[in-house]
Amino acid sequence: MKYNIALIPGDGIGPEVIKETVKVLETIGQLYNHEFRFQEVLVGGCAIDATGEPLPQASLDICKNSDAVLLGAVGGEKWDTLPGHLRPERALLGLREGLGLYANLRPAVLHGALKEACPLKPEIVGDGLDVCVVRELIGGIYFGERGRRANGKMGEEAYDTEAYSVGEVERIGSLAFELALKRNKKVTSVDKANVLESSRLWRSVMVELSKNYPEVTLEHMYVDNAAMQLVRNPRQFDVIVTTNMFGDILSDEASMITGSIGMLPSASLGTSGLGLYEPIHGSAPDIAGQNKANPIATILSAAMMLRITFGLDAEAEAVEGAVTRVLEAGYRTGDIYSEGCKLVGTTEMGNLIIEAIKR
Ligand code: NAD
Repeated sequence: MKYNIALIPGDGIGPEVIKETVKVLETIGQLYNHEFRFQEVLVGGCAIDATGEPLPQASLDICKNSDAVLLGAVGGEKWDTLPGHLRPERALLGLREGLGLYANLRPAVLHGALKEACPLKPEIVGDGLDVCVVRELIGGIYFGERGRRANGKMGEEAYDTEAYSVGEVERIGSLAFELALKRNKKVTSVDKANVLESSRLWRSVMVELSKNYPEVTLEHMYVDNAAMQLVRNPRQFDVIVTTNMFGDILSDEASMITGSIGMLPSASLGTSGLGLYEPIHGSAPDIAGQNKANPIATILSAAMMLRITFGLDAEAEAVEGAVTRVLEAGYRTGDIYSEGCKLVGTTEMGNLIIEAIKR
C-alpha cells in the first residue's frame, strides 16, 4: 500500500525528532511492504522566515491532500515579538481549523520501565497507567463569541463565551465511546454541570449517546473533582472526554503524571478521516540542535498514525513494542535519564528503536 504523509518538521527540535521518526517509518515500510511517501512542508517559524506567514496556503493545501500529517513542533523566541496572528503557534490553530480537526486524543501511558519518573507515590501508580484524554478541539470557549465593553460591573470588561451544540457533543462523544470499546470500556465525561448550562447540555447528550454503547460504562465527573482524582487515583480512568478548555488543562495534568513530556504522543482527528499526529511537547529551543531531544513522543505519534488513520495495527504494535524494549534495556535520553541507565542522544535512540523493530 502507498500512503502520502505531509511532514512538518517545524522549528527547534522538530526537525531532529521528525528525522528519527521518518527512519522508523521507512523501516516499517521495508519490513511490511508499504510505501510511505513524505512531502515536507513549511509551517511555523521557518515558514515565517521563508514566506512571511506561519501557515502558507500552499502548505495547508498539501496537508489537506495527504492521508495524514506528521508534525514535529513549531515556535521559538525569535518569533515571540511578532503580532499574534503572525506567530508560529497561530499555524497550529490554522491547521486545526483548516483540516477540520475536532478531536484531540492524548494517551497518557506510564511505561513500567519509567515508573521512577512519575511524581506520584508507587502505591498510587501500581503497575503503570494508561489513560486517554479525548478533548473537543474546535468549539467551546476558545472559539466562542468574545469581546470587550466599556461599562462592565467595575469598569472595562472582557468576555469569552462557551457554547456547544448537540451535534458537536455527539461527534466527540461518539469518538470517545468508540475508543473505549477498543480499550477498557469506560468513559468518564468531564463537565461543570452544577454551574454551566453548556455542561448540562453536554451531559444530556452523553447520556443519550451511551444508549448506543451498552457495553461501555459512562460516568460523569465535575472538572474540579476530575483534576483531583487524576492525582489521587488515576487508575480509575480509561477514556476521559471533555470540552476544549477543560481538556486543555486535564490533558496536561494527565501527561505530567506520566513523567516526561518527551514521551507522549497525540492525534488530532477530523471529519474527513484525515489525522494530524504530533508529540505533545513544544520546540524545546533550550536543547535544539544538540542531539539531546527525546524522539519517542514523535515516534509514538507515528505509531498512532499507523493504527488510527492507516488501520495498520500490527505495524503500530511493532513500533510501540520496540520502544518498550529499548526502555527496558535501560537506554534513556537526558529528559528521562536516571542513575544506572545508559544515556543516549536523539539519533542513537532512533537507531536503537529501529534495531529493536528489526529484531
Ligand atoms: P517545550 O515543550 O518546548 O519545552 C519544555 C521543557 O521540556 C524544556 O525544558 C525542553 O527542553 C523539554 N522538552 C520538551 N520536549 C522534549 C523532548 N522531546 N526531549 C527532551 N526534552 C524535551 O515547551 P516551552 O519551552 O514552553 O515552549 C518552547 C516553544 O515551543 C515555544 O515557542 C512554544 O510556543 C512552542 N510550543 C509549540 C508546541 C507545538 O508545536 N505543538 C507546543 C507547545 C509549545
